Amino acid sequence: MSDTRQQTRQLVVDRSACAGHGLCYSTSPQLIDCDDQGYPVVLKEFLSDDDMAAAEAAAVVCPERALTIESR
Ligand code: SF4
Repeated sequence: MSDTRQQTRQLVVDRSACAGHGLCYSTSPQLIDCDDQGYPVVLKEFLSDDDMAAAEAAAVVCPERALTIESR
């Protein structure tokens, strides 16, 4: 049986909670870029095992708790 968790984990931005501080994309630029207004843009639709440390670091550093890792 194959493990499909890797294909279904996503880093999700709550735009209503995000204040555009930029800490997330400063912490994990390999995973998050920013748009013209300073809001984060997640670069990968799905998180691999190698992406998890960067995703967790970005979520932890966000003072607004606007980033979550969701399994779908
Ligand atoms: S650290 Fe949090 S509040 Fe700041 S830009 Fe990233 S998601 Fe938004």
